[in-house]
Amino acid sequence: MKRTTDNLIYLDSAATMPIDQKVVSAMTACLNNTEVIGNPSSLNNAGRNAMHDIEIARQKLANLLHTNKDNLTWTSGATESNNLAIIGAARFRSHLGRHIITMATEHKAVLGAFDYLEKEGFQVTRLIPDSNGLLKLADLKEAIKKETQLVSIMHVNNETGVTQDIVKIGSICREKDILFHTDAAQSIGKISLNLDQLPIDLLSISAHKFYGPQGIGALYMRKAAGCGVIPLHYGGEQEKWIRPGTLPVHQIIGFGVAAELALERSEDDYLIMQDLHKRLWDGLKNIPGIEINGTIKSKYPGILNVSISGVDGESLILLLEPLCVANGSACNSKNNEPSFVLKALGRSDLQAQSAIRFSFNRNTTHEEIDITIEKYHEAVRYLREIAPDELV
Ligand SMILES: *Cc1c(COP(=O)(O)O)cnc(C)c1O
Repeated sequence: MKRTTDNLIYLDSAATMPIDQKVVSAMTACLNNTEVIGNPSSLNNAGRNAMHDIEIARQKLANLLHTNKDNLTWTSGATESNNLAIIGAARFRSHLGRHIITMATEHKAVLGAFDYLEKEGFQVTRLIPDSNGLLKLADLKEAIKKETQLVSIMHVNNETGVTQDIVKIGSICREKDILFHTDAAQSIGKISLNLDQLPIDLLSISAHKFYGPQGIGALYMRKAAGCGVIPLHYGGEQEKWIRPGTLPVHQIIGFGVAAELALERSEDDYLIMQDLHKRLWDGLKNIPGIEINGTIKSKYPGILNVSISGVDGESLILLLEPLCVANGSACNSKNNEPSFVLKALGRSDLQAQSAIRFSFNRNTTHEEIDITIEKYHEAVRYLREIAPDELV
């Protein structure tokens, strides 16, 4: 993260967080230590050392999640965890029924898995949230049928920060003996969850969303009768056959350190996010035609997504440089399609296209926020001056 060069201001932390220096140090020490980088599957000393460090990291992640480390499987990230959880669990329970439920505002890694299962013959319900981005629990109850075996609803939305009530959703599922999966890539490490006491069966985690390295994640799976996944890959016996392949020791060690730091810091970090969110929104809210996308009543404050009338979004993002922000979502930024998440909240194409997502991290400063406010005001003033009539 070239934070210090080019006056770059990084407000795209929901896409990936700047890695913590303690994580880098631990990973570098691992890569430099020939004693440890044996193959963790090998029975020799070097392999056993590697496996030892991997299990220490697994325990650190388990501590963060308040669960037993046997419930955790290493993956390459939340995309893989979502696929393994959704496709794996739907197939595992397919003899009981082939109806599965999700929401239209999920991450593409969830929606893609559901699309795939639909082609495989599963029946899919995609619930539309209310205009605040929140799932209506009555809609969920209504959608559940005798054949329903899996519900997947995310915790914190990556575009808006809107936070679903996963405790209530999970309870509804548990009452009906339906597996509940949640994509928690945006909340783990930021919002404390006690997984042993929550009605959650499967949960996806990504290290690079909370100051860890990219390319490593985990799937939490509750040990219980009827809760399981059919693997997506076949080969070795790593991760109890659920996810074969040589484990990337340095990545996992870095992930463990990120989890350890999160346990120490997430409460303080949350206060930092609230302060940054307030400062930025206070600086923007008086601009005529500006509005927040997604409720602020149930929202992770590390993300602020705003739309504005009379302004073209793509020009806006270019004028905002050197701010690094996202228009809608990092995954949508390469095409000019309005964000499907904002469309599902009932936003018009123009509103959705003008959206900017600001997302913070614990190193974001007041000064950076103040520059952001100034830049945004300037850009909007300029674009409104030159805007064609149909935008205004
Ligand atoms: C980033 C993200 C993912 C994908 O995680 P990777 O580890 O990058 O594969 C999935 N879901 C949500 C909500 C995310 O924010």
